[in-house]
Amino acid sequence: MHRRDLLKWTSLGAGASLPWLLTTPLGSFEQPAAPLSAVADKKLSPLKITDIKTILTAPAKIRLVVVKVTTSEPGLYGLGCATFTQRPRVVETAVEKYLKPFLVGKDPLQIEDIWQASFVSSYWRNGPVLNNAISGVDMALWDILGKRAGMPVYQLLGGKCRKAVDVYRHASGATFQDVERNIRRFMEQGYRYVRAQVAVPGYATYGATIKPGRSQTWEPSYYVRTVPRLFEHLRKQLSDEVELLHDVHERVPPVLALRLAKDLEPYRLFFLEDPFSPEDVGYFTHLRQQTTTPIAMGELFNNPNEWLPLVTGRLIDFIRIHMSQVGGLSMARKIAALCEFFAVRTAWHGPGDVSPVGHAANVHLDLAVPNFGIQEARDFTQAEQDAFPGCPTLKDGYYWVNDKPGLGIDLDEKVAAQFPINDDPPFDMQWGNLRRRDGAITKP
Ligand code: MG
Repeated sequence: MHRRDLLKWTSLGAGASLPWLLTTPLGSFEQPAAPLSAVADKKLSPLKITDIKTILTAPAKIRLVVVKVTTSEPGLYGLGCATFTQRPRVVETAVEKYLKPFLVGKDPLQIEDIWQASFVSSYWRNGPVLNNAISGVDMALWDILGKRAGMPVYQLLGGKCRKAVDVYRHASGATFQDVERNIRRFMEQGYRYVRAQVAVPGYATYGATIKPGRSQTWEPSYYVRTVPRLFEHLRKQLSDEVELLHDVHERVPPVLALRLAKDLEPYRLFFLEDPFSPEDVGYFTHLRQQTTTPIAMGELFNNPNEWLPLVTGRLIDFIRIHMSQVGGLSMARKIAALCEFFAVRTAWHGPGDVSPVGHAANVHLDLAVPNFGIQEARDFTQAEQDAFPGCPTLKDGYYWVNDKPGLGIDLDEKVAAQFPINDDPPFDMQWGNLRRRDGAITKP
């Protein structure tokens, strides 16, 4: 409504609304379809957090940690992802022994205040355990806010910037031809982005499904010679029909990562992921000066100071964040906003060790940020869909979420209980067991 029309309208007897109008900025004013006071008119009673608990479940044989926050309003609860699959019991303790007594009785709608208070509640802060615990609560509070407001979380974050979320899938194989075949299979299903990883014979290559004799031996030089040949093959066979990605997984010495990024340049990757470990971020300046291969980095970051210089220095193209690892939606949306000012696009971590609740949170944020880049995605098993009604769905190469209030996903605790986590052995033996040919330990 124009200012002129607004003044005319107010002079025609809309007296009851006048105080509201006087406090409303003019300019590009549009009368909302439903009064903004609709929620307030419900005269909702104050809310309190009455309980917080963790639910550990493994419907796809991957240990997931989900947090359930219950409120004083009957039937109103929220769910959040706190999955640190290698250390689920430690997160469980952080939530139930420490965050629960700190937060019960607080107003669950004070999301930012609860995040800030929880962050300093241990004095010593950051790290995957404490940040995941905070995330479990944080996502659950956004879920509660959405349910109370009657809106999906993407709406609370500013509304949809896109109809759905472009995803990438993982293709791997023992040979170049295997990888090509698997990429073609995804393309036939409508996917436009595929991450390609190939086995290096005799070595435990990251991301390739072939495990030669459960070898846990790794040599980087064979790998950095093999990968450019893989992408040469793929570009010849697939032309430019598909966007290709690759994950180095911080497995090579920095100088070999530099060479690899340069060698891959002719094959026009959508991005090259984690060329360096978080301990070697100083090398990104050198990388940027030597290649135009787009770079994605950050899935192991916990602390804002780790990603800040890479973004503000315009040293990466995509921010890779495991949302629960950085403290949940509240922190991830701030990271996305920061990245927007530096033309860095989002690429939230989305493998099997993110619960379906975490995937839903990823997609809600993807929908609402203008600088969305790509979303890592997976098919949910039937058991996961049974345990988590409302999982995001894949169609035409996109992730879709439903429009139910909150995150739009639930947890059937009876079904989840049918898939207890395996505590014996207490963690995946693949972690901390990768060694060089001479026996020296190397990064995973
Ligand atoms: Mg990765």
